[in-house]
Amino acid sequence: MIEKKIFEGNKAELVVSGVDSSFMNSIRRTLLSEIPKLAIDEVIFYENSSPLTNEILAHRLSMLPIPTEMDLFVPKDQCVCEGAGCPNCTLIYTLSKEGPCTVYSGDLEAQRSEFSIKDKDIPITELAEGQRLILEAMATLGTANKHASYQAAFAVGYKNYPVISIDYSKCDLGKTCIDACPPNIIKKEGNRIVIEDIEKCTLCKECENRCEFGAIKVTYDPEKFIFRFETDGALEPEEVLKKAIEMLDKKLESFSSQMFTVEEEKQ
Ligand SMILES: [Zn+2]
Repeated sequence: MIEKKIFEGNKAELVVSGVDSSFMNSIRRTLLSEIPKLAIDEVIFYENSSPLTNEILAHRLSMLPIPTEMDLFVPKDQCVCEGAGCPNCTLIYTLSKEGPCTVYSGDLEAQRSEFSIKDKDIPITELAEGQRLILEAMATLGTANKHASYQAAFAVGYKNYPVISIDYSKCDLGKTCIDACPPNIIKKEGNRIVIEDIEKCTLCKECENRCEFGAIKVTYDPEKFIFRFETDGALEPEEVLKKAIEMLDKKLESFSSQMFTVEEEKQ
């Protein structure tokens, strides 16, 4: 059950309950390596007198967040063009700049304007007076298990939901736990100790270890998780999560239908 979901810009935070860590890990791994994303994977240099070599420039270009419409493209190796490159599998960008200037991601001109790079201020290289950079870059659809430039989700992680209990019959209100807490979430309100934002608890147990009366206990709910991840802007976090769940669902469906066939064959 999803108890909370926040999608803000490129970041996502969810509180999920009634599941175990292997379920959360399946989603984490799918997000990290199986979501299709567009990335530049081929560059033709017509002129490069910049201080950077073709290889370094190509690597920098491959890491740019290319706006992705997963359903509009097919992976190049599965396309009808058989890998030659066509509008179904390849998106072309061109760049032509002469110094003195800084070349930014926004200088790449997309063949189709709806795929212009949204984050236009990513620096690619500096050009001095008379230096030129003229190139054509091809973006294709891929997944991170093929190459890291296709990674759609980053900083994907989850932790168990913290449970903090205070035994007021033992608590002397001496503020030891308040001073010990690294994220500073334990506060004193009147003659009570309160937890201000329990989701910020890192489960470090500093408060529990420092309290000599054993008044505060930190544990966690084994079936409830705080799940966070972000994207580089190529895809919306909500879209990425939906796709991951869809992919897991498909895998399980295919597994279950194969199980059924095996059982039938046995009889
Ligand atoms: Zn094609």
